[in-house]
Amino acid sequence: MQNINEIQRFSFDNTNVRGERVLLNEAYQQIIRRKDYPKALENLLGEFVSAIALLRDIVKIDGVLSLQCKGNGPLKTLMTECDEKQNLRGIAQWDEEQSFPESISLKELLDGGYLVITITPRNGRRYQGIVEIVGDTLAECLEQYFYQSEQLPSRVWLAANGAQAGGLFLQRLPAEQAKEGDEDAWDRFTHLASTVKQEELLGLETNELLHRLYHEEQVRMYDPKAMQFACSCSRQRTLDAVGSMGAIEIREILAEQGTIQVDCQFCAEHYEFNAQDLAAWLGDEGQLH
Ligand SMILES: [Zn+2]
Repeated sequence: MQNINEIQRFSFDNTNVRGERVLLNEAYQQIIRRKDYPKALENLLGEFVSAIALLRDIVKIDGVLSLQCKGNGPLKTLMTECDEKQNLRGIAQWDEEQSFPESISLKELLDGGYLVITITPRNGRRYQGIVEIVGDTLAECLEQYFYQSEQLPSRVWLAANGAQAGGLFLQRLPAEQAKEGDEDAWDRFTHLASTVKQEELLGLETNELLHRLYHEEQVRMYDPKAMQFACSCSRQRTLDAVGSMGAIEIREILAEQGTIQVDCQFCAEHYEFNAQDLAAWLGDEGQLH
């Protein structure tokens, strides 16, 4: 398949059901290429980036949305982010002493963990939602989240295989937004979507996938939006983070190493700062030389 990194919204005419489909290859591969991830985590990162892409398109805010899980099992933390320009990034940290099979579930990987969804608008207050890991899969956890936060029935299907990552989302909007009544629409559409195979979710373009599932329905498709891997780190932001360690610690590292070096965990960009760069944080006592 050619390079496809996009999300596309769709709806069904004369019903109150809407949907989203995301399909990523290059953007996903760039994220998992940063570290030597075990296969299970390559797949899970793919599910997470697909999920954050879907969430980002549903929660329409001007800002950054992040999806993170934390636990006590072999997976310590996994975090993905997406902003309003569809820039994606993600990272996972795990116990490298432990080995686990490719088929391990999210629940087993986290062993009593939870999922945090953080909405950070460019202007305005940050909002966090927490979901306990009750189901075996990320898709089940997200369905739980949508039900808790929006009280709207929603279904999510996610898949990833180290090359492609994809997701499908269906949601039934409140009754007042329903057009002509089609009482069975929700059951019919979710039942059909449940028949989707992993190779279809990852291998078919959106129009092909929707045709495969819903060729007897009136599907309205909206313009796809391109997504890409991009990191939001910058020299200034990294400098601010180093500065926040405080003068004592900064002085210690500078005395030992001459400069302070930082590698971005998401994109491997290398930053280096000397005493002059950090002068604002070191104050009058910053004169090392
Ligand atoms: Zn970066």
